[in-house]
Amino acid sequence: MSNHVNGVKPVNAVFPENADSQEYAASLDAADPFAAFREKFIIPSKANIASTKLAKPNLSKEPCIYFCGNSLGIQPKATSKYLEAQLDTWSSIGVHGHFTNIEDSPLESWQLLADQAAASMCKIVGAAPDEVTAMGTLTANLHMLLASFYKPTAKKHKILLDWKAFPSDHYAIESHIAWHDLDSKKSMVLMGPDEGEYRISTEKIFSYIDEHAEDAALLLLPGIQYYTGQLFDIKTITEYAQSKGLVVGWDLAHAYANVELKLHDWNVDFAAWCTYKYGNAGPGAMGGLFVHEKHGIVDYSQGEDSPRFRHRLTGWYGGDRSVRFKMDNKFRPTPGAGGWQVSNPSAIDLACLLATLSVFDETSMSDIRRKSVHITAYLEYLLLKDTTDETRQFRIITPSNPEERGAQLSLLLKPGLLQNVAQKLQEAAIVCDKREPGVVRVAPAPLYNTYSEVWSFVKLFKEALKQ
Ligand SMILES: *Cc1c(COP(=O)(O)O)cnc(C)c1O
Repeated sequence: MSNHVNGVKPVNAVFPENADSQEYAASLDAADPFAAFREKFIIPSKANIASTKLAKPNLSKEPCIYFCGNSLGIQPKATSKYLEAQLDTWSSIGVHGHFTNIEDSPLESWQLLADQAAASMCKIVGAAPDEVTAMGTLTANLHMLLASFYKPTAKKHKILLDWKAFPSDHYAIESHIAWHDLDSKKSMVLMGPDEGEYRISTEKIFSYIDEHAEDAALLLLPGIQYYTGQLFDIKTITEYAQSKGLVVGWDLAHAYANVELKLHDWNVDFAAWCTYKYGNAGPGAMGGLFVHEKHGIVDYSQGEDSPRFRHRLTGWYGGDRSVRFKMDNKFRPTPGAGGWQVSNPSAIDLACLLATLSVFDETSMSDIRRKSVHITAYLEYLLLKDTTDETRQFRIITPSNPEERGAQLSLLLKPGLLQNVAQKLQEAAIVCDKREPGVVRVAPAPLYNTYSEVWSFVKLFKEALKQ
């Protein structure tokens, strides 16, 4: 077994003396194999980003600097094309769209559309096509998966989670505990870092698992912590928790389309993600989920009429397509993750998802990650250059090890500075997000951000700190 996080080798970017010059940043852009990918996106213009008027995206030429792909990715040019194709299918053939493939449309018939999305998404998360399905939205999918995988007993009832879990995840877990008539004070274990720290070590997580192994049923962690940007060692933590009898799930909201994942090989039990952050599928877009193949088996050994399968909350779209329209009320789940579907999925939402997936299909997560590690290292290098821990007005709370982070760096400012910095960034049309009390999260997205943008951001950020 490799001793690297998630089995990934570190990439130590080394920058020359002149790396803080604008020319150097431009030279990196000139050599960037992803330069052509930037052209596949509509970057909001400086004028539009500050305006409340609905403007055609390209009315003003100068693009803003968009470092907020960790919150909402920008629009691929393919999206309007795919949406239009879907609207045309609907207006042309109505209900026949369920089964008819339209020539020249990039989209399959509606019955096959979720599978078409899964076939691309599975490459992003490192899974077999049957282990992934496109459905619902992240929190709703977490509920569906917890209904299946959280089966507390009097003895084993605890859920181990992140101490600063994204509120939605916290609420979802809390409500499942209440649903089983358990007490969240006794059944929720919040795993946090050591005092004064932000990074949670794998050893620390092991110690929580050891402490609660007797009565813990499930562990649910974010692949990447949204606030600190820490990437957890999914592979090692999964293996360890399972060895202690826990079921292991991951919320990949910030990891999907950001870092390399191998959910199948890492033997993850289940996972869910949204597609609108690094995935660029659009606000509130359809999410995805993963169920390991070992949990998706449908066993007919007791007879054709008595399929045995893992319990889930069911609906007709989880039923095998071959019998979906028989309407005989005998549930025969689709083998694999598809069997967790419940409703007829929105073909409009799926068109948005497939549009952005068509961009990912042209590259690979290993290539995306290679640029990501480098551009984030460049951001870190410029931020830290010519300052020391004593003189610096901020602290990078994201781990410095590139194996332990994705695209995002979280900058914790000294008290009282956030307001001014946020205002200066806004005036310069630099979009990144603020988390009170003092964190600025900056995420250069490798598909569309440039080294020159990183350079401009750091220059302005440092100037704003001086004032
Ligand atoms: C973005 C995010 C969510 C959002 O959930 P939705 O159901 O898509 O609104 C939930 N959890 C985490 C960890 C997130 O980062």
